[in-house]
Amino acid sequence: MPIPSTLIGIPASPGRAGGRVVRVAEPPGEPATGPAPADPAGEAARIEPAVELVSTRLTARAATVSGDAREVLEATVTMVGDPALLQNAQELVTERGRPAARAVWEAANGFAATLSSMGGYMAERARDISDVRDRIVAELLGLPAPGVADLDAPAVLVATDLAPADTAGLKPGVALALVTEQGGPTSHTAILARSLGIPAVVGCAGASTLTDGSAVIVDGATGEVGEVATLDEAVEAAAAAAVVTDWDGVGRTADGHVVPLLANVGDGPGAAKGAADGAEGVGLFRTELAFLSAAEEPSESRQREAYVAVLSAFAGKPVTARTLDAGADKPLPFLSLDGEPNPALGVRGLRIARDGSGGDGAGVLDRQLAGLAAAAKETGAELKVMAPMVATAEEARWFVERCRTHGIGRAGVMIEVPAAVLTADEIMREVDFVSVGTNDLAQYLFAADRQSGPLAALNDPWQPALLRLIGMLGEASERTGCPVGVCGEAAADPALASVLVGLGVASLSTGPGARAAVGAAIGGLTLAQCRERAAVARAAADPIDARRAVAALDG
Ligand code: PEP
Ligand code: MG
Repeated sequence: MPIPSTLIGIPASPGRAGGRVVRVAEPPGEPATGPAPADPAGEAARIEPAVELVSTRLTARAATVSGDAREVLEATVTMVGDPALLQNAQELVTERGRPAARAVWEAANGFAATLSSMGGYMAERARDISDVRDRIVAELLGLPAPGVADLDAPAVLVATDLAPADTAGLKPGVALALVTEQGGPTSHTAILARSLGIPAVVGCAGASTLTDGSAVIVDGATGEVGEVATLDEAVEAAAAAAVVTDWDGVGRTADGHVVPLLANVGDGPGAAKGAADGAEGVGLFRTELAFLSAAEEPSESRQREAYVAVLSAFAGKPVTARTLDAGADKPLPFLSLDGEPNPALGVRGLRIARDGSGGDGAGVLDRQLAGLAAAAKETGAELKVMAPMVATAEEARWFVERCRTHGIGRAGVMIEVPAAVLTADEIMREVDFVSVGTNDLAQYLFAADRQSGPLAALNDPWQPALLRLIGMLGEASERTGCPVGVCGEAAADPALASVLVGLGVASLSTGPGARAAVGAAIGGLTLAQCRERAAVARAAADPIDARRAVAALDG
């Protein structure tokens, strides 16, 4: 049932909630460059205690949470404590006569600019630096700490943007939902909201018009935010639409069509969590995440250890490892090419292994395949291996041959480039399976950077153009017998998951926190109903239409 919507943003974490708005304290803004302090040494000495106080607060918050949230907060604490940041700020006071708050502002901005110029994950960390900067500046200016104050009652948090450290400290049930004016669906904040199971809408133009204390309903699956007259009305409307998460842990439709629900993981602890949550296997092991900071190619034993850590959590179950997806948003210092004008369209993913410009990409791939095959033997997991960024059937054939050389019996490719959809039949005849990376497929289909906030609406996985491509893959799968899975973020949206099944997708792989809602959503529908949803979503004119058309089938 559509909600009385007044605003619409980008759906970032599914679920519906109703409650009272609490606006998040805004950051302090840019401090003035003067006047120069009368006592520069004394002014410089104020910085360290402010840094320590911010660090202590964040450490205390980290101690109250676990998993992704804890990692984010701990990473932020490390940034606060960076001695170079403190030293640079102190020097700006003593040598350039800046007031302490201004000095911290400039030192942190310099640090953030360096990270931004590194691109990819490092550039995303620039947002964490701004958060650290704002907290220290607020402390030095005697202003309230920016971000979320401790909530004394459940509330819908509304902000211009939320720092990852803020999102990480939130408690589901107290933070009922998040609405931000900026940010995109693949931002760190959105990923954390999903892993915490808190409904979220990001990039919501007009969110600043929501006032403290007003009553709202938020639908994190459709991006709708509606203001209503009373709190009771908001709570009732949300409860009426609560997702039934009654699920027996086996992925299948109401009439028994099996759709394994798998886990996306990046390391051993993530795999252990996925196994404990009842994932039926791993649909995407992002192997590059284990080596993001490695300056040199990890040794064979180091690689094997990292692979065993993941595979051992799923002995006897399927684990699909993706070979290193280096480049663009995931630069690996030992593999990515420097200075490409357009890294997302450059030598990345499988292209590195096939690069003829003198690097040892093929050797790196071979050593990785050897490590994966050895880890499979050691753990008894059913290893499947797939390559990222495959554009042609010839690339697929080459990759499968490399896998066979290492005795890997199940080899596939990711479908992330529109060209691979248009030649799906040819590709599917070369491989044992394909898996759709909807994050990249959307980015390349719409020529819209997946990390861009302003372009987030184009990367919406409900875009009918994207759904039509996935439908074409479903049809090719039927012709060739090659199964097609989805491991991009699209699989984590319960309503969209049923559409994907209707389009012919055979398995769904998601991050933590999404499986029960996805399992319940699919389990409540027959395959014919999933197909009906697929048909209306595919035929829609835009994502809003697609969501409404599918929701309307619920009556
Ligand atoms: C994707 O592109 O959808 C995907 C699953 O891979 P990644 O997000 O790691 O690029
Ligand atoms: Mg990808």
